[in-house]
Amino acid sequence: MNPTILIVEDEPAIQELLAVNLKHAGFLVVKAGSAEAGDSAIRAALPDLVILDWMLPGQSGVALAKKLRQDERTRELPIIMLTARVHEEDKVQGLEAGADDYVTKPFSPKELVARVRAVLRRRAPHLAGESVDIQGLVLNPGTHRVTAGGQTVELGPTEFRLLFFFMTHPERVYTRAQLLDEVWGDHVFIEERTVDVHIRRLRAALEASGHQDRVETVRGTGYRFRGH
Ligand code: CA
Repeated sequence: MNPTILIVEDEPAIQELLAVNLKHAGFLVVKAGSAEAGDSAIRAALPDLVILDWMLPGQSGVALAKKLRQDERTRELPIIMLTARVHEEDKVQGLEAGADDYVTKPFSPKELVARVRAVLRRRAPHLAGESVDIQGLVLNPGTHRVTAGGQTVELGPTEFRLLFFFMTHPERVYTRAQLLDEVWGDHVFIEERTVDVHIRRLRAALEASGHQDRVETVRGTGYRFRGH
């Protein structure tokens, strides 16, 4: 699973420099030349991180960052602001708008890739290929292995994806339709009760280690994964 990076930058040379270096580092890249185009790209498919230029034609990068932070769907989306400004006040303003990091032009592509990795590691460790650990239940996205208290938990591919989604989005309630969308992909038509079947299998697999109660049924709504 290669993380997708959305680059919102109006200067073609910089956009290309970023794209080439990120692709070379193994990321998937989506490009947008304005805040408006970036916004619709995000609406079409949620990226894993956004590199957002401050000065854009039309809506500014700061305005888009603020908007993304206010929307439930994009609230957690990691953002790196990119700008030619060097003043400390601007940096503060960028970080207050919700940016996770701030890179000043001119930048070294190598440094920027390192910053992207650092933000992903901090905000979304599973995208950096690192294990997710919730109270001794450990899922490694690289090796597709799950252990509980050191013992291997055997899971089918769908249960693995379901658990992976739950462990990276704990404490939030998801409807069956949302889980189908997130775990099965939105291009497949599957009946909602299929979700219940896989939830049952997942709970059964977690039973030996006592983690089955983490998958909570929220009556009338859906499911939630308890993270602590
Ligand atoms: Ca610009």
